Amino acid sequence: MGEPILLTTWPFGDAANRAAWPALEAGGSSLDAVEAVCAHVDDDESVHTVGYGGLPDRDGAVSLDGCVMQSPARVGSVCAVRRHAHPVTLARRVMEETPHVMLAGPGADGFGDACGFAPVELLAPEARARWERRAPSRSHDTVCCLALDRAGVLSGGCSSSGAAYKLPGRVGDSPIPGHGLYVDPAHGGAAATGNGELVMGLCSSFLAVEEMRSGANPLAALLEALERIQAAHELAEDDQVAMVALAPDGRHASAALRKGYATAVLRPGSGGVVEPDAILLDE
Ligand code: ASP
Repeated sequence: MGEPILLTTWPFGDAANRAAWPALEAGGSSLDAVEAVCAHVDDDESVHTVGYGGLPDRDGAVSLDGCVMQSPARVGSVCAVRRHAHPVTLARRVMEETPHVMLAGPGADGFGDACGFAPVELLAPEARARWERRAPSRSHDTVCCLALDRAGVLSGGCSSSGAAYKLPGRVGDSPIPGHGLYVDPAHGGAAATGNGELVMGLCSSFLAVEEMRSGANPLAALLEALERIQAAHELAEDDQVAMVALAPDGRHASAALRKGYATAVLRPGSGGVVEPDAILLDE
């Protein structure tokens, strides 16, 4: 039996990790854990980048994206969800109960209805007020969670309301396997948060896992993925991408293009919010 671990993006991941921890520590599955972590952040109205409370698009509508993955054959995703608050839960149902990988827009909402989930209004009063005055936002804070359970099974999940004030219809990296999240049970998982447009042309999470498949440790794998982003784009001063990686043996790392990012880590006997192992720029 191995040690369980939770690796979740951003400081808000800490409370979510702690809520999901007792079940994982008691032998629960990593899939249940990533679903619970993401749902916990979805329900936190003070997080304006995920779930209920997320900032809307240009026209005032909140739309959510999410993905869950355990292997290339066990992956589910939803995007542009307007009436259901837990995209990772929906994505898991897509993975487990349909022959498909991804459902989008009204089809995803209809699937949520058919699963028996009660529809909700996703636009919280404070998010509406911020949209009305176009209050500036650090809009790129997706929750991504990589988890390993006592049975040694690796799972990943991510949930996002995407970019604040995005064009209606915009979908980012988070729900797309290989872009915002990728898991290979033999070699590891990786996930990305930040400006999805920087990630999507490079399949950054897939790239990081492929680096691990080739023998790189988690930090070297993330640095390769971030360096490829830096090389491919003319980065603006506020462009940010941060990534996390977890190997099947529990080794893990996080890295970011810029300062301002931190990871919530929880394992037996230790836990908390840690600075990234490397920051590519800003040093
Ligand atoms: N990566 C997400 C997206 O571009 C945003 C985020 O990380 O908050 O949709």
